[in-house]
Amino acid sequence: MIDETHPGPRAATLQPLPARILIVDDQAINIHAMHRMLSGGNHELFMATSGEQALAQCRDNVPDLVLLDAMMPGMGGLEVCRRLAADPATADIPVIFVTALSALEDEAKCWDAGCVDFITKPFHAQTLLNRVRVHLLLKQQADQLRELAWLDGLTGLCNRKRFDDRLGEELRRCRRSGQPLSVVMMDVDHFKHFNDTYGHLAGDECLRAVAAVIGQTLRRSHDLAARYGGEEFVFLLPDTGLVGAEHVAQQVVQRVRALQHRHEGVDAGIVTLSAGFSECSPDTVQSPEALLERADRALYRAKADGRDRAVAAS
Ligand code: GH3
Ligand code: MG
Ligand code: MG
Repeated sequence: MIDETHPGPRAATLQPLPARILIVDDQAINIHAMHRMLSGGNHELFMATSGEQALAQCRDNVPDLVLLDAMMPGMGGLEVCRRLAADPATADIPVIFVTALSALEDEAKCWDAGCVDFITKPFHAQTLLNRVRVHLLLKQQADQLRELAWLDGLTGLCNRKRFDDRLGEELRRCRRSGQPLSVVMMDVDHFKHFNDTYGHLAGDECLRAVAAVIGQTLRRSHDLAARYGGEEFVFLLPDTGLVGAEHVAQQVVQRVRALQHRHEGVDAGIVTLSAGFSECSPDTVQSPEALLERADRALYRAKADGRDRAVAAS
């Protein structure tokens, strides 16, 4: 996952982390055998001895690859694979079945459940290593493409699509966890005038400077900063109520002011930003549109009250 609080794709700045592989088999001896074959590579290995345990691990600690036994007492591998594919939080995890089943119709069931590959026991260590290597490479490439598709090209913050997707996920989580959720809408003041005065290239440069401040204001790994459109930005703040949202919103307004980015012809003489914020509490979870609409109305009031300030939704 990219660190969404800071601009720029992670691929360009960080070393790849060791791949995380979850081995699932009800027989400890099979787990140990695969563990031995895979140890020594740039992997972190995790284990589960039942389908239920495997699902829980995939949700809590998302792996890059699952090696899954098909036949287990209780929940079998096919059901595990189907459930992983059905949950957006785990749907991107590639699953390789490692199984004693060899009939063609059994293999077909595994593919239908959503696996990416199929290895029949007994197998050579080299077969396992090669399949794992290829699927980890494909997973890494898919992750990089996904991350690029989440970014706004001008600023390196997340884009609107990523924000909309995460907002939906976080509202569902808010309902489940009982924790509040806040959004902050921000809009650069008198930006049309800035463009008219200094030109669009200088305007773009200014948006990048403002976006850098916005990205650096967030500290928690679950926070998200996105460019919502033109000169509008938005924060998504999980597990945060109105007090926390106000703190973040005031801070970003102050920090943009502290940039002292010259803007002649407006009263302040520098580039400023206005913000509106709203909270969604678990007992009154609203639609994404309603939450944003309330933040937007607060932003409108911040503009009407003189700009360069943050205002709470009433
Ligand atoms: P207010 O203080 O009320 O927000 O006034 P404003 O001029 O900022 O508001 P308005 O929405 O009328 O103008 C937004 C302007 O932002 C329009 C356009 O010139 C500029 N803009 C939007 N997107 C971009 C962009 O990607 N690059 C540049 N350079 N300018 C942009
Ligand atoms: Mg605007
Ligand atoms: Mg504006």
